[in-house]
Amino acid sequence: MAKSFTIIPIASAATQASVFAQEPDTAWHKAGRGNLPFLADIMQRPLRDLRISVTDRCNLRCTYCMPREVFDKDHPFLPRAELLNFEEIERLARLFIQLGVQKIRLTGGEPLLRRGIERLIEALAKLNTREGKPVEIALTTNAVLLSQKAQPLKDAGLARITASLDGLSEETFRRMSDSNVPVKTVLDGIAAAQRVGLAPVKVNMVVKRGVNDHEIIPMAEHFRNSGVVLRFIEFMDVGCSNGWRMDDVVPAREVLEQINSRFPIRQVDPNYSGEVAARWHYADGSGEVGVIASVTQAFCHECTRARLSTDGKLYTCLFANSGADLRGPLRAGATDQMLSNLVTGAWRLRYDRYSQLRHAATEQPGKKIEMSYIGG
Ligand code: SAM
Ligand code: SF4
Ligand code: SF4
Repeated sequence: MAKSFTIIPIASAATQASVFAQEPDTAWHKAGRGNLPFLADIMQRPLRDLRISVTDRCNLRCTYCMPREVFDKDHPFLPRAELLNFEEIERLARLFIQLGVQKIRLTGGEPLLRRGIERLIEALAKLNTREGKPVEIALTTNAVLLSQKAQPLKDAGLARITASLDGLSEETFRRMSDSNVPVKTVLDGIAAAQRVGLAPVKVNMVVKRGVNDHEIIPMAEHFRNSGVVLRFIEFMDVGCSNGWRMDDVVPAREVLEQINSRFPIRQVDPNYSGEVAARWHYADGSGEVGVIASVTQAFCHECTRARLSTDGKLYTCLFANSGADLRGPLRAGATDQMLSNLVTGAWRLRYDRYSQLRHAATEQPGKKIEMSYIGG
C-alpha cells in the first residue's frame, strides 16, 4: 500500500521568532567551496540559487500555469504596495548571496511586465558572490515583449535568458498559451536575445500529452543549428489549478526516444552539479537539447534553489504550501543580521523533496502555491 506523507513546514512561527532573535550563526558547515563555511539543509543541500518572482501577473494564460477560469478579471492579484520594491529585493538578494547564493533568476508571472526591470537587473548585476565573482543574473520570460526589451536587458547586465515556447504552429501555441499572440512574436524575441548576445538562449517547452507532443520533432528541427538550447519539461502538478493528471505527462525518456529516432543524440555531462536539465548533443554536431524530468526522475537530492515570492516570502520548494515572511520583518526595521537569521533558520529546517515523494503520496499535502506567484 502506498504511504501518505506530509511536507514539513519550513519554519513555524515559534521557530521563526527564535531564529529572528539569534546572534550570528556559528554552526555552519566548515567545508564549503573555497573553504568558506556553507549553509546546509537537513539533507546537506547548500543554498546556491535564488529565484525571484517580480510579478504575479502575466500577459498569457498558459493552461498548465494560469488557467483563464481561475486567473480571470476577478482574480486577486497582489496590489502594488504588497510587491517587494527594487531596493527591498536588492537588499534581500545581498543577504542571500552572503549565505552562499551564486545565481539569481528573475521570473514570475511574466517578469518583463514589471516596470523598470532593467533597473533591478543593473543593481543585481553589480553584486559579487562570497568568492568575489559576479553573481550570474538570468531571467525566464514568455518572450512576448522580448524583441523590444532584449537590448536594454543586455545593457543592464543580464547574463542569460530562457524563453518559453510550447509549439510552432499557431494552433498549438494558442491552445497552450490561451492567447492570440502570434508565434512569430516569440520567435522574434528569441532572435533578438541571440542578436544582442544573451547567449546561449534556452527555450523551454512544456510537453502535454495529446496537446503539443506532436510538436516535439518540429521544435527540435527548428532549433537545431540555431545555437538555441531547447529543453523539454515534463508537465508538473504545481499549484492547485491546472488539473494535472499523470496521464498528461510525457516522460522525458519518451521525448528523448522520439528525438533520437529522428536525430541521433548522445548524453553529455552536466555543466555543474545540481543542473536540473539532463543534456544531450546531436551526434552530427548540430547543437544541444535537454530534458527536465521533474516528475519521472526527481532531482530533489541536489536541489539548491530557494524562491522569493513577489510579496517577499521565502519558499524552499516549488511545491511548498507555506513560506517564511521576510517582507514583514524587513518593513518593520529588521537588521540584516535578523533577516539573515530568518533565511538561515528556514534553510536549516528544509527537508523538502516533494518530487521524490510524489509517487508515494495517497493524499495531497495542503494547498500548494501557484507557480506564477512563487516564481517558476
Ligand atoms: N512567464 C515566464 C515564462 O513563461 O517563461 C516565466 C515564469 S513561468 C512560471 C517559468 C517556467 O515554468 C516556464 O518555462 C513555464 O513553461 C514553466 N511552467 C509553468 N507551469 C508549469 C507546469 N505546470 N509544469 C511544467 N512547467 C511549467
Ligand atoms: Fe505566464 Fe509563464 Fe505561466 Fe505561461 S508559464 S502563464 S507565460 S507565467
Ligand atoms: Fe527542489 Fe522541491 Fe523541486 Fe524537489 S520538488 S527539486 S525540493 S523544488
